[in-house]
Amino acid sequence: MVYSARSVLATSECERPKVEWEDVACLLCGGGQRNLLVEARDPTPDRTGLWFAVVQCQDCGLCYTNPRPSPVSISAFYPTDYRPHGTPPKNKKVQGVTKRFGRWLRGLDSRRGLAWHGQGRLLDFGCGGGSFLERLHLQGWKVTGLDVSPLPVDRIRQGLNLPALVGTLPHPALHKSSFDVITMWQALEHLHDPLAVLREAHRLLAPGGKLIVSVPNIDSLAFRWFGPAWFGLDLPRHLTHFAPWTLQLMLVRAGFEIEPVRMIRRGSWLRGSARLAASMPNPGRWRRCLQSRLPSSLASWFAWRTRQADCMMVTAHRA
Ligand SMILES: [Zn+2]
Repeated sequence: MVYSARSVLATSECERPKVEWEDVACLLCGGGQRNLLVEARDPTPDRTGLWFAVVQCQDCGLCYTNPRPSPVSISAFYPTDYRPHGTPPKNKKVQGVTKRFGRWLRGLDSRRGLAWHGQGRLLDFGCGGGSFLERLHLQGWKVTGLDVSPLPVDRIRQGLNLPALVGTLPHPALHKSSFDVITMWQALEHLHDPLAVLREAHRLLAPGGKLIVSVPNIDSLAFRWFGPAWFGLDLPRHLTHFAPWTLQLMLVRAGFEIEPVRMIRRGSWLRGSARLAASMPNPGRWRRCLQSRLPSSLASWFAWRTRQADCMMVTAHRA
């Protein structure tokens, strides 16, 4: 094994959950040769205290968590208050926000390649609490949500009265060429088999349809600065750790035509990394300094300007 034994050892003061582990080959090329990239602890407060390893494939360069909890075991690592699964804002509030920040949201959607007044069919994969789904519904899109967690899906159905499904892709209720747009906001990195999900997304899109994917970028200044304290690692919930070229490679392998990868500024992620680093031994003064808004905003602007931001987005097309 290329990873050290501590990657799956719990600290003595923490209770060790029953976890079924799996050792996997590269999720992109199937290669078995890899190098240890980094080891880090589950950052969730008061959780398992387990350490995990991220390895890098020697053939294609994809970084992935290995060994990792099996699909059955991974739910033990999601706290019940996991943020994306939180309660969506009330309908009135979303309407208010849409009205108040309309111009900014319009620019945001335009940069994402989404029409403001959508007429198409949109699937939000990993829809979480459903706030994005609700906003797009109010803008005219015919939306469907999909999430592995039953609780937020139930809230979307009951509270927002919007269609949502429990599960992942492939899903028996979703059929070929039935969507014009599929969105995956910070979802792909959570999957045990991201390539299979992308291939199914390709099948679900109508010809000319587009897939919009946003994931953390491990080829970022923030990862180089913070290493195991980087906010975007989030082990073991993040199973694949994309760089721009590995994200593009996987999308092409799934059959998509791709646009250039775009960097996204996330000052809040830098502050999250700085807070995590501050809780570790010897964080260093400059890392602590990035907990403040102004330095983190300047640093995230610099990372974005030099194409080393810690979040990225790409639009892919079904030809
Ligand atoms: Zn590989």
